Amino acid sequence: MAIIEDLAAAETIHCSVRGRITRCGESASSLRVICVHHQQIGFPDENERCRGGLPMFRTVGDVHTDSHGDFAFAFDALARPFGACSFLSRARVDVYDGATRIWASGYRAVAPLMRFDRELLPNCRAGSTVVRVIDDAGNIVAGAEVFANGTLRGTTDATGHVFVDPPLEAGDELVARRLIRENGSPKDGHDVDSDRNWNYRVWITSLGVRHDSDGDDVTLPQYTISNPDEVQQLRVRARNAIIGLNLRASIEWDASSTEFDRIHDRLCDLSELLYNATEGQFFVAELALSDDGHSWDDADVRIYANMNYASNASRGGIFEDDGRLRMNPNDAYFAGFYLHELGHYAFGLGDEYPDNGTVVCTPKSKDPEGPYANGNEKDACLMRGSQYEDQKKFCSAHPLNPHVLGTDQGRQDCWTDILELYSDPDRRWRVLTPVNRGAIVGRLPDSGVPLKGSSQPSGVARPPSFIPLAGWKPRDHNLRVQHLGLCEGLIVRVTRGGTPVVGALVMLHTSQGRSIYQGKTKTEYNLAYGVRTGVGAHGARLPRRPATGRPAAERARGARGRPPRSGRSWSGARRRRADGVGAVRADGSAETPPEGAGEPSLPAPVGRGGNVRRVSRRPPRRRRISARARVQRHRRSVRGDGRNRRIRDVRTGRAPQRLRELVSRLQRGEETLGHLHRFRPWGTQTRSRTESGRFAGRSNKVHTTPTSGGRTMPRRGGGGR
Ligand SMILES: [Zn+2]
Ligand SMILES: [Zn+2]
Repeated sequence: MAIIEDLAAAETIHCSVRGRITRCGESASSLRVICVHHQQIGFPDENERCRGGLPMFRTVGDVHTDSHGDFAFAFDALARPFGACSFLSRARVDVYDGATRIWASGYRAVAPLMRFDRELLPNCRAGSTVVRVIDDAGNIVAGAEVFANGTLRGTTDATGHVFVDPPLEAGDELVARRLIRENGSPKDGHDVDSDRNWNYRVWITSLGVRHDSDGDDVTLPQYTISNPDEVQQLRVRARNAIIGLNLRASIEWDASSTEFDRIHDRLCDLSELLYNATEGQFFVAELALSDDGHSWDDADVRIYANMNYASNASRGGIFEDDGRLRMNPNDAYFAGFYLHELGHYAFGLGDEYPDNGTVVCTPKSKDPEGPYANGNEKDACLMRGSQYEDQKKFCSAHPLNPHVLGTDQGRQDCWTDILELYSDPDRRWRVLTPVNRGAIVGRLPDSGVPLKGSSQPSGVARPPSFIPLAGWKPRDHNLRVQHLGLCEGLIVRVTRGGTPVVGALVMLHTSQGRSIYQGKTKTEYNLAYGVRTGVGAHGARLPRRPATGRPAAERARGARGRPPRSGRSWSGARRRRADGVGAVRADGSAETPPEGAGEPSLPAPVGRGGNVRRVSRRPPRRRRISARARVQRHRRSVRGDGRNRRIRDVRTGRAPQRLRELVSRLQRGEETLGHLHRFRPWGTQTRSRTESGRFAGRSNKVHTTPTSGGRTMPRRGGGGR
């Protein structure tokens, strides 16, 4: 009762509120100004403790700025009542442009005259285009990147604005994105633009995929400027999230610039395919490619030299310290192979190969007319294999074409797995699947934005440019190792007594001291870019006696233009005779098989990287060698008497035991070869070619490059931003 009497006795203050709102120094007219009054009064209770009353908020003004940007109104507020132990009376104004609150003044104590003047764009530059970014709730978004016509033009300031200068024109297209999350990575070497290692980043964007209720007519509409003089307002949405991967790839050998570019460009193509496969939600944001085995231990993607290596990936390996995506060197020239392996690596998915003839990848994948058929735009069989059919998508639980059981992927469809790995408990961003989107989305349109890189894949077309912003193509952080005197691809042919040998292991020993396993000789390799290693005899395995045919020396002369130093292999037993012939292949062109096609000829792997080559042939049968014989053989090889330079017994190296163990592990498939480059050179007598074209005995002392180990290390990050 006393309180009411006190309040009734309190005086009122007549408040006059005025202000001027400007934008870039000019009057900002027609903005809505709302004034809120906040009052809270406390009185002592019986125990003389101060007891605050309920806070009271009321709107005391709701006006628009006039043509000068001015506004004015008045309201009455209580003065401090007699006996009040606490008293709060304050007011704030909020300024709205349409539904967007573009300024909140903050509370100020009520006074008879209150002024709220505001320059809305304190960082404004005359003659610039003003872009504002807001979020789903209509609040301004600071720190958002704004792209105009695909290029980053600025980042919004604390007021949520960016001033694009030189100004934009009508018809220009805008996209905004705001970084929401950076996910830590256990792998080293992933700290690009950050103070820690990360494997993916999430942005919410103003760019979303649109489609009709069937998932067709897919578009990615950008905000288009109609009046450049107005403030351009972009809204970033949780449902328009994009997730950018931070990938590091390493080529095991010292790739030629052609090889490097091709692999680099296919990894860029991978980003396009990934963007299409995920309906514009995932892409490769950062791409660090190196060769000569650099960053091998940190790499997400390892590209092996071993021709026989079957591409594979650790499921969910992107989240693990030692998880990898491992590529066969020939597969590495096709973006679709990367895409499939990335399904394992980044999304933890299993293969969807049919285990038996009755299981199909998705129910409608065998209907040749429909959109779900192999190669068509809603083909959801990416995990069955994407290879050359590279514009595939992931399967979902959508009833129109649901996931099927009976494959490695198990009970759950691919998209549900993806959703479990990539989601935000706070729902600041979300991944959309065909199920929660309500439609199976078709292929994205070709944006026409140039793809990164200019090299062409072999035998297939490059994918369309699905990513519609040049600024969202993978950012390069390349490391190109360029040793002097590098050979382009070589074809190595192993013969024994003139007969091709299938199954011989080929090891490259570089003058830099690396030993890189290249794979086994085979009847024929049909490689990318039309490289064929020659027609071979099937089953021509290590005949005991030399077969008839042209001598190896003659054959080599045909292929190489000069007589080789063919010779017997390692000494001793008559059974172990072998000739090795190297045939040089010019870049990109196929080596012509030797004449005399009637005879079985032996194709072998194309050697990759290095200016020194040694060919090792596995002995046909394990043999015990006496210590004395081993010493003799070793001396002979040290002398380098010319006879055993072509094919060298792998056991004559300085560390024979270690090498023998490694080779047998390789043969049993127990060794991944992933860390071969860490081995010291096995033999000290690796053959190397001097600049005069002659051979010298000890490669680590005499080799082709005159200075500093022949190593020219380019700078990091040479490829671009
Ligand atoms: Zn697979
Ligand atoms: Zn499936």
